Amino acid sequence: MPDKSKDLTLIELQSKYSDLKLVKRWLTEGQRPQYNEVSGKGYFIRSLWSQFDCLELQGGIVVRRHDDRERNIVKLQAVIPMSERKQVLEYCHDTEYAGHLAVHKTREKIRQSYYWPGLQSDVRAYVGGCNKCTRNKFPIKGSVPHRDWRRAMVVTRVRDQPVWLIM
Ligand SMILES: [Zn+2]
Repeated sequence: MPDKSKDLTLIELQSKYSDLKLVKRWLTEGQRPQYNEVSGKGYFIRSLWSQFDCLELQGGIVVRRHDDRERNIVKLQAVIPMSERKQVLEYCHDTEYAGHLAVHKTREKIRQSYYWPGLQSDVRAYVGGCNKCTRNKFPIKGSVPHRDWRRAMVVTRVRDQPVWLIM
């Protein structure tokens, strides 16, 4: 039976998660709620709340603006629901496209397009626990089934220029 979840686009994926639906509502309303509205919620939502000014909606997708001053671009990172982190980690570390890179490079690869609160420590834990990386001194290329993250809309904008590059 075909795995229908493979066809999920980011917009559908995000809309399945109530935390992200809530963030989307803040962005649609253009207003960050009072802290007491999120203080009882989990780390994910509180972290996004604290970064409200860096968040925006792009084509219905909640993205985080990451200003890369060195390269003079603004990266828009799709915010990934907590339950989907592993899919991204697999895609950006285990697959042939990724090639089992070390922690730093895996993190950079993910940050090209994706974001979630706690990304940094998740990457460290994931790569540290990767069997192939610990068993082999040299990286082995694996082919792990994964959702097609390449279908995700990734947008990079050149700072101060009204140019959108869809990759
Ligand atoms: Zn690995």
